[in-house]
Amino acid sequence: MTRPARAIFNPAALRANLQTVRRAAPGSRILAIVKADAYGHGVVRVARALGEDVDALGVACVEEAVALREAGISRPIVLLEGPFEARELSAIVVHDLESVVHNEQQLAWFTRHDANTTLWIKFDTGMHRLGFAPADATRVVGALQRPGRELRLMTHFASAHLAGDASVTAQQQDFDAAVKALPGARCIANSSAILNWPQSHTDWVRPGLMLYGVSPLAERSASDLGLRPALTVTSALIAVKTVPAGGAVGYGQSYRCPETMPIGIVAFGYADGYPRHAATGTPVLVNGVRTQVLGEVTMDMMMVDLRPVPNAQIGDAVVLWGEGLPVEEIARAAATIPYELLCRMRMRAQFVEIPA
Ligand SMILES: *Cc1c(COP(=O)(O)O)cnc(C)c1O
Repeated sequence: MTRPARAIFNPAALRANLQTVRRAAPGSRILAIVKADAYGHGVVRVARALGEDVDALGVACVEEAVALREAGISRPIVLLEGPFEARELSAIVVHDLESVVHNEQQLAWFTRHDANTTLWIKFDTGMHRLGFAPADATRVVGALQRPGRELRLMTHFASAHLAGDASVTAQQQDFDAAVKALPGARCIANSSAILNWPQSHTDWVRPGLMLYGVSPLAERSASDLGLRPALTVTSALIAVKTVPAGGAVGYGQSYRCPETMPIGIVAFGYADGYPRHAATGTPVLVNGVRTQVLGEVTMDMMMVDLRPVPNAQIGDAVVLWGEGLPVEEIARAAATIPYELLCRMRMRAQFVEIPA
């Protein structure tokens, strides 16, 4: 593909972020979360880069797990939502997967199931998404217990990204109390809990976003946290022009040039995963110089202000986010979260991997 929209994957950054997780939670094993095609980075690419340095990989469904197995990935793989249908139990056995168990239907399936699949029993301590009530812990664990089957116990915080939030302490206390007398490794912390709540690290941690070099915390930048973006999204200028004072830019003519000024047209738009809600003022790098988006982002292109880079030419490099321009800033400008922008990178841009 000659169109210059690219997603540049840096395996060294991913591995360095994994080491940052290890340093933050030195006593814990790591279940690296690679659901949603590894947050848009490419699940096989990410699993290969992590290699034997992770203890397990977490995915959302059997199809994501099978893609890993077919690529030769032999690490333990955990289905974070468990099976959706009983017929998936055979695939779980065939592909040697581990599974979360979070509802009564799955509990019935795995109670009858005769393979020794490792099960991660999930408790809902206040997020009110997946999991059994803590009061049911003894019954659920009892139903699933059998010789040769390993059981692990997990919960998920609603507000771990908020430092000091009382709900996190309450969730942890309810979890600890519910599983106190029960055997099995514990697993609680996502990225923000790894960073904000050391007491939640337990036997296993479940980092997602921080592995990809992005901060889950509003008040701490990724570089502050020692994280490097694993993906840099780039393109190039495909036109450069001078617009007279008062001239309008793009659909709806929402941006009017306050003076005669150079603008650039970038081959990247919302069909490539750029948020259409990123308004005039959203940062972008042209030849490494920080400037701004002008007017409305279109399907395949967007316009940028070239006043800070008056010598920019057709073909010059543009960074939409990544190294030098955190995706957190683009997410904020578009009133969304970095998770959503990363997941969209599967849309069209061609992936390029920096050699290790
Ligand atoms: C997605 C997910 C994670 C990872 O969360 P991050 O905020 O990306 O670290 C951890 N645990 C569960 C159950 C998840 O679904």
